[in-house]
Amino acid sequence: MGITGSRDQEIYDLVGIGFGPSNLSLAIALEEHGASAPQQPVRFQFFERQPSFGWHRNMLLPSTTMQISFLKDLATFRNPLSRFSFVSYLHAKNRLVQFVNNQDFYPTRQEFHQYLEWAADAFRDRVGYGTEVTSVRPVTDGSAPPELLRVEVRTGDGTTRTVTARNVVVSTGLVPRLPQGVTADDRVWHSSEFLRRFRAHDPRDLGSVAVVGAGQSAAEITRFLHDELPHAEVHAIIPSYGYSVADDTPFANQVFDPGAVDAYYFGTEQGREAFWRYHRNTNYSVVDADVIRALYQRVYDEEVRGVRRLHVRNLTRVSEVKRRDNETRVTLCSVLDEHTEELAVDALVFASGYDGLDPARLLGDFDRHFLRDASGRHRVERDYRLVSSTALACGVYLQGGTEHTHGLSSALLSNIAVRSGEIADSVVLRRAERELGHSQPLEEASPVA
Ligand SMILES: Cc1cc2nc3c(=O)[nH]c(=O)nc-3n(C[C@H](O)[C@H](O)[C@H](O)COP(=O)(O)OP(=O)(O)OC[C@H]3O[C@@H](n4cnc5c(N)ncnc54)[C@H](O)[C@@H]3O)c2cc1C
Repeated sequence: MGITGSRDQEIYDLVGIGFGPSNLSLAIALEEHGASAPQQPVRFQFFERQPSFGWHRNMLLPSTTMQISFLKDLATFRNPLSRFSFVSYLHAKNRLVQFVNNQDFYPTRQEFHQYLEWAADAFRDRVGYGTEVTSVRPVTDGSAPPELLRVEVRTGDGTTRTVTARNVVVSTGLVPRLPQGVTADDRVWHSSEFLRRFRAHDPRDLGSVAVVGAGQSAAEITRFLHDELPHAEVHAIIPSYGYSVADDTPFANQVFDPGAVDAYYFGTEQGREAFWRYHRNTNYSVVDADVIRALYQRVYDEEVRGVRRLHVRNLTRVSEVKRRDNETRVTLCSVLDEHTEELAVDALVFASGYDGLDPARLLGDFDRHFLRDASGRHRVERDYRLVSSTALACGVYLQGGTEHTHGLSSALLSNIAVRSGEIADSVVLRRAERELGHSQPLEEASPVA
């Protein structure tokens, strides 16, 4: 489709791609920078493909809780006085006292979502919802290093237009992953679309369901289905011998501290690998202890009553999925001895995880300008800016997709307040350097790369 819309004449200092919690936190950092330096506000705009703000809406299961303290909100670690803190939100909703009485560091995911929506609402004029960014390219005449980026966006009605920016911040989030050969449909779901798919069915038609995976989402969905479908057989298919616990004890939790980013970033390749190996169990393929206990309690209670309908199938993988009309047949394969068995289900949920953010799709040919490491991953500066092979005066920043350079918190919420502040500072600082450079004779201006 051609470019049909009008061109936006304004040159933004920053265009944010995606408006999940990471870029929402960045919007707050930029707004607060503007309040402290009103003569030099950063001109910014965000684009979000969803029609309104939404954070993993299909996993807002009742009673699921956050895996971070409420103090790791959008702003507090960067600016404890921010009006966008979780505490400010509670105050605005007249619930601060009750929250404190509840004595819990971990709000429900539903409440945190309401907090995020409340904060996002303050930026409704700065976000183009229902608008997908389709490409980012440099504006170049072939001579000087490009200073500007052309960002192409497509709205829900198919109209395409471009905006111009000095920097983009790519924060498009995780990408749902299904096992090879599996295709999602109305009976085979990825966890990222769980509630939408579940609600599309009459629960009475779901007499046998299976959940594949050993992580937090798998365990939560299993518990939910067991609650919501009291008549159904619920199969949890896990490749390990049982769910493993997420280590959220204080020393281990330090891996999510803002300071851990420096430790990781400036460490050796070997050191980073060891860091990752030791502390993977703080987040990946692990489950909160209370959810594990709740599930085990159910299995045990059923055993006592002699009515088993929650079947935890340990050391088991799915080797094939056969679909025909409403029929779904799953081949289960034992990890121990390769013994196979067929199971007929009415719905099959893959909580099989996500791939990390990769900016290459948006950058297209422009990606050639950015350096990669020996493993083919993007090189990223400490301020989250992609390292370019040529001096680019424009910047591509990443929020997410930097696990290999910035460590375990890269795709999580733990560090978004500080990270967003660092990106905002970088954009402001580089702008000041550029303006200074332009006011000096050209040969004195140092390239910013
Ligand atoms: C169920 C679930 C629960 C989680 N709970 C926690 C938790 O408790 N604590 C924690 O630290 N982490 C948690 N995580 C990890 C999760 O990655 C972060 O919570 C968070 O979503 C990261 O925010 P983000 O803004 O980087 O990405 P996202 O929240 O994924 O937001 C990215 C946004 O970009 C939009 N987008 C994508 N492509 C485009 C495009 N081309 N143009 C325009 N818009 C686009 C998407 O629609 C989306 O809204 C959880 C993850 C899941 C799946």
